[in-house]
Amino acid sequence: MNGVLRPQDAEFIGAVPVLVIGAGACGLSAALSADDAGAEVLVLERDASAMGTTAMSTGLIPGAGSRFQRAAGIEDSPERFAADVLAKTGGQVDHALVAHLARVSAATVEWLADDCRVPLSLVDTFLYPGHSRMRMHGTPNRTGAELMGALQGEVERRGLDLLLEARATALFADSDGRVHGVRVQRPDGSHEDIGCNALVLACCGFAGSPELVQRYIPEIASGTFFGHPGNKGDAILWGSALGARLADMHAYQGHGGLAAGQGVPILWAHIVLGGIQVNTAGLRFANEARGYSEQAVDILAQPGHVAWSLFDERIHEAMREFDDYRDALEARCVVQADTLEALAERTGLPLEPLRETLDEVAAMTRGERTDPLGRDFTTGGTLSPPYRAVRVTGALFHTQGGLEVDEQARVLREDGTPFPNLFAGGGAARGISGPGASGYLAGNGLLTATALGRAAGRGAAGLG
Ligand SMILES: Cc1cc2nc3c(=O)[nH]c(=O)nc-3n(C[C@H](O)[C@H](O)[C@H](O)COP(=O)(O)OP(=O)(O)OC[C@H]3O[C@@H](n4cnc5c(N)ncnc54)[C@H](O)[C@@H]3O)c2cc1C
Repeated sequence: MNGVLRPQDAEFIGAVPVLVIGAGACGLSAALSADDAGAEVLVLERDASAMGTTAMSTGLIPGAGSRFQRAAGIEDSPERFAADVLAKTGGQVDHALVAHLARVSAATVEWLADDCRVPLSLVDTFLYPGHSRMRMHGTPNRTGAELMGALQGEVERRGLDLLLEARATALFADSDGRVHGVRVQRPDGSHEDIGCNALVLACCGFAGSPELVQRYIPEIASGTFFGHPGNKGDAILWGSALGARLADMHAYQGHGGLAAGQGVPILWAHIVLGGIQVNTAGLRFANEARGYSEQAVDILAQPGHVAWSLFDERIHEAMREFDDYRDALEARCVVQADTLEALAERTGLPLEPLRETLDEVAAMTRGERTDPLGRDFTTGGTLSPPYRAVRVTGALFHTQGGLEVDEQARVLREDGTPFPNLFAGGGAARGISGPGASGYLAGNGLLTATALGRAAGRGAAGLG
């Protein structure tokens, strides 16, 4: 059963002021923030451990104007960050929400670091596509698992209630959309009804539902799913049943660098620092530097739905900072070749077209030619032997469309008015990535998870 039930049909075993569904970055941020505001909170998580998409991620969170940036001498501002988001999405976003999230981004990063004890530092080694300043903050090994570990550690330290193996299957709400509680299914099939004064939907989007992906985003349905399978679109289904406004349902975070057949994402720094992608004919097929999200569908359009990411020793060394890349090395996804001939042999790519492609890229790097695909190669550095290569495919990481929310993370009805006690953030809410794949700017996922999660927790506590 997955829907909205009448409150009179509930058999509440108890009630909490603030109930949160989902224990990823959004849910735990909401719980910590509700606790900051003095409210009792209970988090429901369907899995046996709190991981979600967040634990699979690189865990990088943007903050514009943070103290970490100031310490590194980087000048940034919310206005500059908002302008980057608007440029990446062509302005097809909720401008007020973008301005708000940019404004609170640094405070959110500092709150996570200072109040929630997440060990964050600035990533100052490369710029993600679309960001005009280095503003990503990450844990020591740059992993979402560390981020989740720190958030969960803080939840435990404060003694907040987190109920695992507790899948919310239905909401109890009256006809004006006021939520009274949630039905929870336990692993043995039994049900419990838990009442609440306010509910936070932090159960992400619908990437784990092949049917919903096919319905809303058919272009990525054939891509490899590399996200959290437990995210079945429950928030969106409940919201729709309540009469909530949905937006940007085609939006998603894709990735054009998932090691094919290995399930290891190759950090996009390999492209930012000068790497390229070729298809099995040894030819480039898209401007890789636009961003990793939109590159996914371009790869899926290539023969065999694969491409080869090509980079070199300099880039390989720069990427060692990241756990994900060390995982890729351990999984033996990365081919090493001392010469062009060896590269062709080890990858199976045809030598002459490959040589021509690399010669062309070298000429574009020297500024002697312009790229017919539109990439500016003059900033990335020259590719030179020894080479590294990874066979990659296009992937779906998570969806970015969902429930429309305001700056306080209140879920909005179709007429634009907020529901009385319903909040959402992270992948459950409409993001700031525009209508498709190309508007996703690195960090959009965790910014909306943590900043909207924090706002939701605070707002929900205010009703408690
Ligand atoms: C490989 C990868 C790398 C990424 N890197 C970055 C990055 O560096 N920076 C960035 O900003 N974003 C990144 N992202 C995106 C980012 O991970 C997500 O945007 C973010 O984690 C979403 O957080 P969330 O809390 O909304 O969802 P999640 O972390 O997925 O948490 C949702 C939780 O809800 C639970 N749940 C679902 N349904 C129910 C239910 N009915 N009842 C109870 N519980 C339920 C799920 O089990 C899950 O634990 C990356 C994603 C991937 C896959």
